[in-house]
Amino acid sequence: MDMIERYGLSNIVNARGPYTPLGVSRSPAAVAEAAGEALRHYFVLEELQTAADRELARYAGAEAGTVTHCVAAAITLSVTAAMTGGAPCAVARLPDTEGMADRAVLPAGHAVDYGHPITQAIRLSGAVPVLAGTDRACNADDLERAIDPDRTCCVLLVSSRLTRGAPIDLADAVAVAHRHGLPAFIDGAAQDLQLAALLETGADLVLISGQKYLASPTAGLVIGRRKWVDAVRAQEKGIGRPMKATKESLAGVLAAIEVRSDTDTASWCAAQAERMAAFVQSLGHLDGVMGFVLPDPGGAPIGRVHLRIDPLRARYDAASLEAALRTGTPPIHVMPHRLDKNEIVLEIVQLSDAEIGTIAARLEALMSRAGAR
Ligand SMILES: *Cc1c(COP(=O)(O)O)cnc(C)c1O
Repeated sequence: MDMIERYGLSNIVNARGPYTPLGVSRSPAAVAEAAGEALRHYFVLEELQTAADRELARYAGAEAGTVTHCVAAAITLSVTAAMTGGAPCAVARLPDTEGMADRAVLPAGHAVDYGHPITQAIRLSGAVPVLAGTDRACNADDLERAIDPDRTCCVLLVSSRLTRGAPIDLADAVAVAHRHGLPAFIDGAAQDLQLAALLETGADLVLISGQKYLASPTAGLVIGRRKWVDAVRAQEKGIGRPMKATKESLAGVLAAIEVRSDTDTASWCAAQAERMAAFVQSLGHLDGVMGFVLPDPGGAPIGRVHLRIDPLRARYDAASLEAALRTGTPPIHVMPHRLDKNEIVLEIVQLSDAEIGTIAARLEALMSRAGAR
């Protein structure tokens, strides 16, 4: 790619999944073309958002949908929607929350950091995050206790690999919020493949990053109940202004949900399983490396390749192998979250066969050099 040379950028292999600092994802040609085409045109933005509303609703089988700049923005704006209900004077007043219920309850183990703390995304709205339960567990009673009838505006739940503690039954948690007359929102940023299940919990809004597995330009999809989607849109004339969707992201999202609708997920998953198995097999002869495939712990139909390293036989531990991959040419980035278990984890679903070959060749070269040293 031209830009890499012109600006002196790194030509990386990203086996780390939809990771924001590495460019998140690669869009299919149809999506890139739609976004590029939109850049060459004027639109009545309101009409484009209304088309996105209609198409997202149809795609998800939900009442309504809208697009914000990203999910971080969608979190802020959902909380804002819960505080204002879309009423123009309240929208105008934020982030001053005087006179509004302004506590957003979040299970403590869901106070994740996806590049910044989610509690900061809540605070940006003017609301105050209140953590329910502990890092190890949060049950319905814990949630119930954290809800102050006069002060609480919503309950936020996160569905992700980053969450801590015992899994929470999202449907039960949503029911607790509804018993108190509060909306419940689910941050499902990287969980678009589970969108239907997240909506089935009864959540009022599910927030999805368009640029992760859906591979659109950067966008936060806000999908669910008409009332709350409209209240999110009402912030466009308030603190939502710096969080707005662009015309190219709207066009890209529309194209991306078309591409997804035309994709047979079951056969895509089967093909990916085959590629992962072949990759693991190609590493079978490496001494001290045991490869296996595990599903996404959050339940998404995305497998990942785990390489368990035996430091005595491989002469690398996982941390030094990760560093060697990352600092080589080309730099190869892997998921580091299991290095302390002496595992490197690779997500290869978005990679070309050539890139997968590059990773296998590098591992082989590193290991044989290690054997000789
Ligand atoms: C990626 C992520 C976000 C942020 O999404 P953006 O669209 O990049 O703003 C929020 N929550 C979770 C759990 C994430 O994984």
